[in-house]
Amino acid sequence: MSRPRSFNTEALVVRSTELGEADRLLTLLTPAYGKLQVSARGVRKATSKLGGHLDLLTRSSLTLSQGQSLDTITGAEAVETFMALKADLRALSKALYLLELADAFHPLGSPNPPAYDLLLETLRVLESTADHELALRFCELRLLDLCGFLPQLAQCVQCQEKLLPGGHFLSPAAGGVLCPACKAPFADAAPISVEALKVLRYLATNLLAAAMRVNVGPPLQRELAALLSNLLRYTLERELRSAAFLRTIAQQWPKAEGLAASAP
Ligand SMILES: [Zn+2]
Repeated sequence: MSRPRSFNTEALVVRSTELGEADRLLTLLTPAYGKLQVSARGVRKATSKLGGHLDLLTRSSLTLSQGQSLDTITGAEAVETFMALKADLRALSKALYLLELADAFHPLGSPNPPAYDLLLETLRVLESTADHELALRFCELRLLDLCGFLPQLAQCVQCQEKLLPGGHFLSPAAGGVLCPACKAPFADAAPISVEALKVLRYLATNLLAAAMRVNVGPPLQRELAALLSNLLRYTLERELRSAAFLRTIAQQWPKAEGLAASAP
């Protein structure tokens, strides 16, 4: 969505770095404008009216003004501060991981309102429960889905045959689950238990509240965490590689800049 010279939006602060003497460079996720990088001028001064409304892991109602290179925040009011998350180091580390993940999956611009809602919903669950692991797996899998990378879980991704019990593999490079006959060409294919496959299918098709009621013991939790980690690493590395490739093309061949600008 193109932005007017001055515009209002709600936003979640997903990254914050110091800029100059008293400013901050913020990465925001917004429902309508996607990911934005903006400057918050003077926010580190004790007298700043913006202070406290633009902390990392804070959802705020903002007014922004378009600048030459960076938009600037001219007004901010915190709407949701996730204070309970910020007060619990263990929960906070999980929340910060989700912010990094969401940041990595979102190109600048390109609004993805369902992914924005997913992040907020998962943060609220992290804040309200002590059992975080399944919420993290839910968010990881649904983020893959909402960004177009959901692995094929229903049948073998190669031969499309129905999966018989036992002997399944999951390959990020193949884009899903493989039967034993199709596994060979995929070096990254790792065994996946029937239980893990069932949980992934359930997470992919149910609401977070329902997913949180699934009873998953520690060994299965570890298997799910490893499977999702492989899928995320493969997806993000491929995306980062393609973005870097397009930037190189744009530098060497200026006519391709339009292509690079629309790349993830
Ligand atoms: Zn197959």
